[in-house]
Amino acid sequence: MKYDVVVVGGRIGGSVSSLFASKNDVDVLMIEKRQEIGTPVQCAEGTSLGTFKILQMEPSPKYVCTEIGGLHVHSPDNNRFTIKLDSDDGFVLEKKLILERKIFDKHLAIESAKAGTDVMVKTTVKDLIIKEGKVCGVVAKHLGQTMDIQADVVIAADGLESNIARMAGLNSYQTPNDVCSCAQYEMVGADFDPDHLEVYMGEEMAPGGYAWIFPKGENVANVGIGVRSSTETAYHYLKKFASKLDATPIELNVGAVPLYGTIDKTFTDSLMVVGDAARQVEPATGGGIHITAECARIAGEVAAEAVKNEDTSSESLKKYETLWKAAVGGKLEDSLKYRKIIDKITDEELNALSKFLNDEKVEDIRSLGSVSKLSILKLIKNYPRLLRLLKDLM
Ligand SMILES: Cc1cc2nc3c(=O)[nH]c(=O)nc-3n(C[C@H](O)[C@H](O)[C@H](O)COP(=O)(O)OP(=O)(O)OC[C@H]3O[C@@H](n4cnc5c(N)ncnc54)[C@H](O)[C@@H]3O)c2cc1C
Repeated sequence: MKYDVVVVGGRIGGSVSSLFASKNDVDVLMIEKRQEIGTPVQCAEGTSLGTFKILQMEPSPKYVCTEIGGLHVHSPDNNRFTIKLDSDDGFVLEKKLILERKIFDKHLAIESAKAGTDVMVKTTVKDLIIKEGKVCGVVAKHLGQTMDIQADVVIAADGLESNIARMAGLNSYQTPNDVCSCAQYEMVGADFDPDHLEVYMGEEMAPGGYAWIFPKGENVANVGIGVRSSTETAYHYLKKFASKLDATPIELNVGAVPLYGTIDKTFTDSLMVVGDAARQVEPATGGGIHITAECARIAGEVAAEAVKNEDTSSESLKKYETLWKAAVGGKLEDSLKYRKIIDKITDEELNALSKFLNDEKVEDIRSLGSVSKLSILKLIKNYPRLLRLLKDLM
């Protein structure tokens, strides 16, 4: 079997790469190890309209559960401040959409197949075929049968657990503190605020991470928690958090989010790495859908161009890294900077910051600059380390 491009992984990174490669008239195969694309869900399912601009698609009510106009951030002492999500010029403050990813991911795979991609499900890529140091295909296993599939370009969209990047000699090592372990229920019954995302901070609630409630519609929400370097599991903290809600779980998911920046190099001869496999996730929020969509689209287009030019060398595929860095590199760097700041803030400082934002009636983080200097000075006098955070946010 021989294809121009083989994509490993069939969720957002895989479907978008293969879609944009196929749209550019090359032969593409996408391989997914699960029997069904999109399951199990490992996501709180929040994204923004910007994702659909990247995908050149209109969002459909088939997979958009609801629209969200704000974010409540709960401090450890259980105060909260609210941030409006109404911008149309940047992901962080953009209005959010909550997706039904089981349907969304499958929809993307369907679009990719309609554009010409061949898809193999319940098929696991076990190895790369490497000749004279150059990747030239994959070894895949489907229902006990092992097969060699030749390819001019391989795109590794195999998620955080990615082995493919490592097999190609790229360094994808992470320390346990770089990754947030997550557990999430989809819950039904409680009176969830339908217009706001809820985020809960604090070492007791979620050490090294945060808890969330993302409403999906009337009385339905994703209720989750992410923790880092904790002796207890994320599920332990989830059960504790969920027990306070008068709701019942209808689904349990576990997963992990990379929070400490992208891998050093995302390409080599005949291979590119996209999405969670490349750690293309915003470290401050754990949001990866929009970043993965952007990088995967670029990877698909660069792969097609390289095949047509008959040059799939490392030098040619370097364009992928140049382009994704130009598109989202700055955003990822800023987000990593915020993550490092958030990691240093103590619960006491969070409580003080929350009180300050409430007292100053800051509903829009962009208006922090207009808060009176005197109020900021008062806060800084008591909590001097917060100066750095406020300076960066402003
Ligand atoms: C709990 C949680 C909540 C999150 N919430 C949000 C959120 O609200 N908003 C947001 O923007 N982001 C969120 N994220 C991040 C987001 O889900 C990811 O960034 C995004 O799904 C990455 O997509 P991907 O295609 O790169 O990887 P994945 O979604 O991990 O897909 C990888 C695919 O590759 C397949 N695969 C792996 N190895 C092989 C192999 N050897 N052969 C064949 N197939 C293989 C897997 O089965 C899988 O289907 C969340 C993540 C987690 C864990």
